[in-house]
Amino acid sequence: MKKNVHIKEIRGARSLYGALLSVTLIPLVIYGLVVTAYSSVSLVRDVQTEAESNLRNVSYTLAETYKALYDGDYNVVIYGDNVDFYKGDHLLSDEYEMLDTIHEETGLDISMFFYDTRLLTTIRDSEGNRYINTGANPVIVSDVIGSQTGRFYNNIVVGNEKYYAYYLPLMSNDEQTCLGMVGVSETSAAVTKMATVAVVKNIVIIVLAMVVTGFFIVRFTSGIVLTIKKIMDFTNDIAEGDLSTELDPAVANRSDELGEMGRLVTKLRGSLRRLIERDALTGIFNRRYAVNKLQEFKKTGIRYSVSIGDIDFFKKFNDTYGHECGDVVLKEVSRILRESLQPYGFAARWGGEEFLLVYDNIDGKKAAELTARALQNIRDMDVKYEELVHKVTMSFGVTESEKNRTMDEDINEADVLLYEAKESGRNQVVYKAPRPVKPVTPQAPVAKTDQGTPTAPTAAGAPTTQTTAASPPGNKQ
Ligand code: GH3
Ligand code: MG
Ligand code: MG
Repeated sequence: MKKNVHIKEIRGARSLYGALLSVTLIPLVIYGLVVTAYSSVSLVRDVQTEAESNLRNVSYTLAETYKALYDGDYNVVIYGDNVDFYKGDHLLSDEYEMLDTIHEETGLDISMFFYDTRLLTTIRDSEGNRYINTGANPVIVSDVIGSQTGRFYNNIVVGNEKYYAYYLPLMSNDEQTCLGMVGVSETSAAVTKMATVAVVKNIVIIVLAMVVTGFFIVRFTSGIVLTIKKIMDFTNDIAEGDLSTELDPAVANRSDELGEMGRLVTKLRGSLRRLIERDALTGIFNRRYAVNKLQEFKKTGIRYSVSIGDIDFFKKFNDTYGHECGDVVLKEVSRILRESLQPYGFAARWGGEEFLLVYDNIDGKKAAELTARALQNIRDMDVKYEELVHKVTMSFGVTESEKNRTMDEDINEADVLLYEAKESGRNQVVYKAPRPVKPVTPQAPVAKTDQGTPTAPTAAGAPTTQTTAASPPGNKQ
């Protein structure tokens, strides 16, 4: 019986399914975590590096733009509390168009310092006033103005806000003196947000990839283990004696080792079937198979007819030509009976030199006719053994199954009729219809002597008075 195996059946502690999932999914999760951690750290670093290079580029661009736009050096004119910031003759104070545009478009803040004093800026306090006339951080002043080189900082505080900032020295036209700085900054919050977005995207992609990979691992693993379970169930059925069990074709059709394993077990079932159901000498079905089949027919209500046949004077083959010759006769008779029964049923070796012919869904009359035809095939057969050709005849008793009879009673009835066939001269078929009792003699047996062939030594005790008398084992050169 083909059974469906459910995934639930392969789960459980110490199962192969669990073990395979552990050795695949656990490394996958570890790998995912390591990749996530490593790539997140590099992503944050990349975002910061990009922010730094962006700030540097803007500060250089600004310095170059001012240099190109206005001749002369940066200078200031101080009167009272006011400080006017100049580039050459050009007054820069209050000239915010360019700086504000950059601020609006990029979100970056820009501050211009004359020495250490912030004179232009896009940074405003909470009331909207620009943070001008404020001093730069002394560390930055000493770093940038002192060394006359640009520098990046990732933790500058202006007002209450933390910034990433790049400070570039503003040099005199002769490049000898540092006159101030341009500082371009971006809030730490903005950089962190960019980094967070990049990291989250990265995590989502890795998790998705892990889920898809995990899905395929689970599918593949459950496929493998379910297949193994199906082969196990199939093997177990066979071990418990159910040789009619079938392996799921999906398993048998696999081209891998599991498919091969399934095919091997199927082959094993075939060998067992042959051992259990076949007769070792003749290769046709044995008595066990025939009994099982007939019981099955009885159980399912299938009509059948049976014919028991016995080789006439068989003992003489053994006695005259040897046991091996008898075996050859048994094999040849089996072959002819098997062929004759197709496609009406099957022939089985009932024991010794007795055979049972089973006609599936065929009434007794028709079975008697078919048996008579089989008998004729036996008569026509030449059994060659050691340069001699032997002729064989058989006697048969035929009956059809009856509902109120057991299988044994059906067979006994056929046996009784076989006895009649033997008693009334052999080499014939005796059939008794269920009601009007009427023996059927299908065809007059052909005596060897009629064929003008030399006969074998007459068997002792061979009947001589019957009109349907059979010839004893005969041979021709
Ligand atoms: P009858 O016409 O009355 O059936 O006579 P018979 O000689 O055929 O019957 P009998 O029962 O006296 O002989 C059957 C013989 O079949 C006896 C036994 O030794 C032989 N025999 C049984 N099984 C085998 C076998 O497997 N091989 C061989 N060679 N002989 C077997
Ligand atoms: Mg016998
Ligand atoms: Mg016999």
